[in-house]
Amino acid sequence: MAILTPKALNYAEQLVMYTDPDTCPTDALVPVPLAEEPAFVSWQQDIPREYLAMSPEELDRRIASARAKLGTRLTILGHHYQRDEVIQYADFTGDSFKLARHAAEQKDLEFVLFCGVHFMAESADILTDESVKVILPNMAAGCSMADMADPDDVYQAWDEIHEMLGQDASVVPVTYMNSAANLKAFVGERDGLVCTSSNADKALEYAFARGEKVLFFPDQHLGRNTGYAMGFALDEMVLWNWRMPNGGTTPEQLKKAKMILWQGHCSTHQRFTAAQIEKARAEHPGVQVIVHPECPWETVQAADFNGSTEKIVRAVTDSPAGSTWAIGTEINLVKRLADQNPDKTVFCLDPVICPCSTMYRIHPAYIAWVLESLIQGRVVNEVKVESDTRKWALVALERMLALP
Ligand code: SF4
Repeated sequence: MAILTPKALNYAEQLVMYTDPDTCPTDALVPVPLAEEPAFVSWQQDIPREYLAMSPEELDRRIASARAKLGTRLTILGHHYQRDEVIQYADFTGDSFKLARHAAEQKDLEFVLFCGVHFMAESADILTDESVKVILPNMAAGCSMADMADPDDVYQAWDEIHEMLGQDASVVPVTYMNSAANLKAFVGERDGLVCTSSNADKALEYAFARGEKVLFFPDQHLGRNTGYAMGFALDEMVLWNWRMPNGGTTPEQLKKAKMILWQGHCSTHQRFTAAQIEKARAEHPGVQVIVHPECPWETVQAADFNGSTEKIVRAVTDSPAGSTWAIGTEINLVKRLADQNPDKTVFCLDPVICPCSTMYRIHPAYIAWVLESLIQGRVVNEVKVESDTRKWALVALERMLALP
């Protein structure tokens, strides 16, 4: 079933689409020049004016020409949540784990163009040779979840936890891939590691083999869903509210806790609910529901399956013709899965969900700009992690990549 019928919106309609989540239509994902992007001025990075009005066709021509000139000096990586008009340029696509692994395997490259968000480009920089330049097309493409774990707040939380539990408390920090490089370094220095939604259970096993408690950040939901699946009760996982002294916890709660969950979330995945699942089941008998583990615990409990972006892709792709899938993840991926599986019914659990607004900040105009700059001998938007941070973040990432 085709779930999206492209339709042009005027600027006023687009502004409504991006400012009122309850009216966000999923049928408006059509390529437009950068200057016509919704809410363009409020969050896009400066870019030479000539790129603003270029049509999709002209951008396509210029990108193809620049790529041909750069040849094997360049590879383009694309995260599954990128829109179609960006993902079409990717040499390799995947979720953050697959892209990290792929970046680590790259040899004899000069440039990696990372169509994703900032923390992913940082990880690619850490995992590739120091000589490789990693470029993010739009430096404003961050991650709201990653931003919820400010390094200073995490350092303070670590101190407060040890003041409450005692300096010899056995706590191992685990950070989700969706975090700044200096937090990856922080866990690397303290016997911890990085995880993704593909391997959070293995990462927690690693951590619990080395300590009695885990401080997990920034996504409370991935932490809770993974901990629960491993057998921890909900009251063994205490929430750390970084806006409050001592995280809003008591010493008794902390002593009892096996996991201390940072109060962060993904604004895209937090919108999926158990009520939407109930509605999907009522309207589509036989539907299978699969959601991302960044969704709230109640949603994951109500679903048939949960798993990483790659697991969602495999579940839908490998299912027999005639299957019906309701999916709780980012709309660009759901739309692509619907398009690639015309013999199945594939739809998004939330009929009004918006794209991840930060992933959406990558537009072909930025790709054309950074590639043409490379041809002219200028590297723009390089993401470079400084060497001290790089050293320990690499330790934390390599522990993750070595997980069984
Ligand atoms: S989907 Fe959520 S976690 Fe992923 S980049 Fe967007 S805000 Fe961050």
